[in-house]
Amino acid sequence: MSVDILVVEDEPAIQELIAVNLEHAGYRVRLARDAERALDLVQGALPDVTIIDWMLPGISGVALARRLRSEARSRNLPIILLTARGSEADKIEGLEAGADDYVTKPFSPRELLARIKALLRRRSPQATDDPVEIAGLRLEPGTRRVFGDRTPLEVGPTEFRLLHYLMTHAERVHTRSQLLDQVWGDHVFIEERTVDVHIRRLRQALEATRHDRLIQTVRGSGYRLSTESA
Ligand code: CA
Repeated sequence: MSVDILVVEDEPAIQELIAVNLEHAGYRVRLARDAERALDLVQGALPDVTIIDWMLPGISGVALARRLRSEARSRNLPIILLTARGSEADKIEGLEAGADDYVTKPFSPRELLARIKALLRRRSPQATDDPVEIAGLRLEPGTRRVFGDRTPLEVGPTEFRLLHYLMTHAERVHTRSQLLDQVWGDHVFIEERTVDVHIRRLRQALEATRHDRLIQTVRGSGYRLSTESA
């Protein structure tokens, strides 16, 4: 699954430094030179991570972070603030505006990549390549393989993404519309019943090793992956 990163920075040299390094690391990069453009891009498709420079022409990076946090659609968007200002007070202001992390200029691309990785691991574990294992069910994003008690299981691409999301957010109940947003991507116009179809296929794929019982229907709410019996 390709990770989409929005970089909001007005200085072309830094924009390019970040873009080159992120693309080299396998991320998809979108660039905005000011807050207005960034908001447009977020409206079009929600990125997995946003990197925002503090000093932007017009609306500042901190104000942009605050704005993204205040809107339901982007409330949970992971944000890294980039800044030449390194004082403790600035850092606190940035974090209070809703940034998840803070990188001080000048920074090394390696440091930025490490921060992005740590943030993804914390905020969207389904966007990383870390294998996940629950009750003998193992999913390996890197090789796109699923094993039930070490037996390879045949899982389709959509069911794979669905299972990855459910496994990285286990024990929680997800509504059909949340699953559509998270697994199919937001702004897709798919009927909620589609989720039921893929859940059914996923259960069938996991039946051989009886891991289908992990996928539970929560009446009136949605679905959850749980090791507790329903
Ligand atoms: Ca700047």
